[in-house]
Amino acid sequence: MQRLAEIPFPEVERVARSGHALVILPVGVVEEHGAHLPLGLDSFAAEVYAEVAAPHLEEIGYEVVIAPTISYGVARAAIDFPGTLSLEPQTLKSLVAEIGRSLARHGLNRLVILNGHRDLHHMQALDDARATLVEENTGQILCVGFTSDPALTAACYREGIGEFSRSARPDREGHGGEWETSLALHAFPDLVKQDIVQGLEPNFDYDVEAFRGETKDYRSLSNGSGYFGSPQSGNAETGKKILAIRGRNIAGVILKAWGEPKKIRD
Ligand SMILES: [Zn+2]
Repeated sequence: MQRLAEIPFPEVERVARSGHALVILPVGVVEEHGAHLPLGLDSFAAEVYAEVAAPHLEEIGYEVVIAPTISYGVARAAIDFPGTLSLEPQTLKSLVAEIGRSLARHGLNRLVILNGHRDLHHMQALDDARATLVEENTGQILCVGFTSDPALTAACYREGIGEFSRSARPDREGHGGEWETSLALHAFPDLVKQDIVQGLEPNFDYDVEAFRGETKDYRSLSNGSGYFGSPQSGNAETGKKILAIRGRNIAGVILKAWGEPKKIRD
């Protein structure tokens, strides 16, 4: 696995010529995740999922190149919290489409958009970017992680992790709750305010439909706390397990869509 920004151009040329190149573009956001987690959590999560998925893809012959993360996205529901930044969906769509076109220009025409942020407009913008690139015949483009397709999202993130929950209400875990806290405690523990986590009461009693449908903002839905579920149920051990499983899940979704690498352009 290589990082696009860390290699020189002849190496890009070689990888593109191999016909086995697969670029993963992690996409996140700058958004509040409760008083205990960093604003960049979804970006950091997308990055670690890409790193863990890569070896599974390389095992069957792909050469994985991870592009620099898009750390900005659409975050309207949490926009009232200090630090949350939001793009217009059109801006995100253009950004992704332009990156996809540039990659294809150099023969890197297998692109996986790996999204770590759940927001309906954000996910739609990524889908729209994908549709545009496909329409332009740019190559093979796939959206994974949080996508507009709930079944695909579940196949990436939910499949096989339920048994690890220590929450009293696993059905109420969401943004900033057990799963995200666990992942952060494992993958970037220095960025978790661990003393604060201990004092956070579970937030199970919220309007789930409004949360999922984004019909109300996070501040009013969470009583100003910014998280949904029980951060206290999170732990590093769970984080380690769910990271491994989600990495494998994401690779599985990609392989199901594309199979083994075939040369798609000389
Ligand atoms: Zn998140």
